[in-house]
Amino acid sequence: MSECGVAVEAAAELRGGVHNVPARVLELMADQAWEARDGDGAEGLARGQKAPPVKYDPELPQGQDGLLTTQAIYIRPRGSPAYVLMLILHELAHWMLAKAGLDDPHGDVWALALALAAPLALLRRLKAAGELTAGRLAAETGMPWWAAALRLDMTAVML
Ligand SMILES: [Zn+2]
Repeated sequence: MSECGVAVEAAAELRGGVHNVPARVLELMADQAWEARDGDGAEGLARGQKAPPVKYDPELPQGQDGLLTTQAIYIRPRGSPAYVLMLILHELAHWMLAKAGLDDPHGDVWALALALAAPLALLRRLKAAGELTAGRLAAETGMPWWAAALRLDMTAVML
């Protein structure tokens, strides 16, 4: 799937996908993951969750850019660092939901992945500074612009 395809899938899952876990619980999981992080970026968040290590493998099955197994979070090394960040956080979200004993439909996975990329505290700080735009959020977090825009959509009623 292209990055564009992934963005469209994420938007569709957030709007119309299966959501089992209340939004506030997903936000709490993301906040706790930030408190527990062990190093920078998505890999630091994954280490803090004791998730399998991230391994970059160009030979993932066709059409699959990320794959979670008990051995590793496999990521196809392609596209921008921002895209790779979202791939890792997507697989980490699967891991965190499963570890919590929850189902992991893609509606919840994308919501948690975006919350991990940009926790509420950061959104509130940018809002207080009058700088809460998708472009600013993308620059601040390293997430893709489309992901930042989706994050603003899903949190509009919380801020
Ligand atoms: Zn998935």
